[in-house]
Amino acid sequence: MTIQRQKEILTLPRILVVEDDPLSCAMIEMYLEQEGYPCVTAPNGREALDLFKREPFPIVITDWLMPEMDGTALCQAIRGLNTDSYTYLILLTSQNSPDAVVEGLESGADEYIVKPVNPAELKVRLKGARRILDLEDALRKSLYEIRELSIHDPLTGAFNRGYMDQQLNHEVQRAYRYRHPLSVMICDLDHFKQVNDSHGHHAGDSVLRRSIGNITSSIRQNIDWVARFGGEEFVIVLPETDTAGCCVVAERIRERIELGPGAEDSGSIRIRITASFGTVTLVPGDEPTATPEQLLQRADRRMYLAKQTGRNRVVSADS
Ligand code: GH3
Ligand code: MG
Ligand code: MG
Ligand code: MG
Repeated sequence: MTIQRQKEILTLPRILVVEDDPLSCAMIEMYLEQEGYPCVTAPNGREALDLFKREPFPIVITDWLMPEMDGTALCQAIRGLNTDSYTYLILLTSQNSPDAVVEGLESGADEYIVKPVNPAELKVRLKGARRILDLEDALRKSLYEIRELSIHDPLTGAFNRGYMDQQLNHEVQRAYRYRHPLSVMICDLDHFKQVNDSHGHHAGDSVLRRSIGNITSSIRQNIDWVARFGGEEFVIVLPETDTAGCCVVAERIRERIELGPGAEDSGSIRIRITASFGTVTLVPGDEPTATPEQLLQRADRRMYLAKQTGRNRVVSADS
């Protein structure tokens, strides 16, 4: 077997074969295995659906007439499930009258094959199925990439302003619904203009990326998140975190930006950078409902207080 063919077999989709006639089932299974398709069999629609719900299959070849649940009912049930990726459904039928074909395809099948199954026909139908599945896969990957691009800031990889507006709103609603605290902080790099003026924009960009790296490594992965709010300002959101917890995290980030990885040099130039922080914690029940904008305004005021009182510090209360 050629290396090309070996590689192809490794990527062949799994097929669920549903057929109540053991002989016909064994023949289809044998043929699919010869072609290299990993395959699982079920004797009726009900059992097939149970298997499918446990782990969806990209291709299902199903007989029409079967006990318990027939092929069209199985097609309908699979189409009704909310799966992440597409399933290509091939219906096996012993009748190819136009009415039967219409009924079969209307149940959600993509294709039908008249029994007895001809191996050469099955082979080309499966080729067609793979073309559709490959297209769907490519489309899903493109959509994922587009979504990633649409919610991230290209320079730093942090979430962008649009994502922040939307997500912060969700976080606030969730905090009130579950009566959990929510902390939000604004982090603004100190004298960042001087970095650009003294070392150029390129070095400034690299300081921005480094700062995001230091923030990201100081917060909980997949729970806390950071967005680029403006040029050298970041919003950091800590769900289910009270004032004390937020102060600890803010101090950790402050210290890491000042002293952590990359603090010694950026490229070949040593650039010392510090940041000022304003934090706010929403505690459901403590005060009238606050909006995301009000939280950000409060954090921003405190960040300015941090600037006025010397920079490189965290301010967590109005004074
Ligand atoms: P402060 O301590 O008061 O915050 O002073 P600052 O210099 O950090 O603040 P200021 O708002 O005066 O300057 C922000 C600078 O950030 C000005 C702008 O050129 C720079 N900046 C904004 N976005 C980018 C960017 O994407 N790349 C680079 N290199 N610089 C940026
Ligand atoms: Mg049958
Ligand atoms: Mg600044
Ligand atoms: Mg600023």
